[in-house]
Amino acid sequence: MTYRLFAATLLSIAALAGCAAATNDRAGRITGPEPDRRAAQRVLDLLPRGFDLPIAIIDPDGVPDSTAVRRLDAFTVAEPDGTIRPRIYLNRESLVVRKAVKGSRFYLTVLAAIIVHEAVHVRGGSETDARQAETRFFADLQARGLVDPADGDRYLALLRSRESADGHSERDRTAPRR
Ligand SMILES: [Zn+2]
Repeated sequence: MTYRLFAATLLSIAALAGCAAATNDRAGRITGPEPDRRAAQRVLDLLPRGFDLPIAIIDPDGVPDSTAVRRLDAFTVAEPDGTIRPRIYLNRESLVVRKAVKGSRFYLTVLAAIIVHEAVHVRGGSETDARQAETRFFADLQARGLVDPADGDRYLALLRSRESADGHSERDRTAPRR
């Protein structure tokens, strides 16, 4: 989803993240509190070759409308002119992020697919485009043997049901409709 309400709120957070991400090495691409940041580096190994968007892990307590952010796994931010900021934000309190940070192999793959979804929004893609890319990418991870087959099949079924559903997915339920 693209979250339009927090553009101003998140400016200061994004500025801090930008400082920390000033280097070009992989370790600089994820910013946020430890140990989340260090653990989430593992997700970079799963992302498509050439993926270069910075990722900022956000503590929802640090933003005024924390209730809304708490309901999201990930989001992007629209600038006042409508362009999407080239950065992906993760809610560190989301179940997916917490499990991934704890090292769950399955949730690392789920999070990687969510990041691929958000990257489509950064490129201007619609919710449908983003969901299709997320499903394709997760299916590819499974085909490469990176996901337990039973877990992967269940999650793929969920992703495919979301693809055909109208409106935003459960994960995106607080997002303004686009
Ligand atoms: Zn979306």
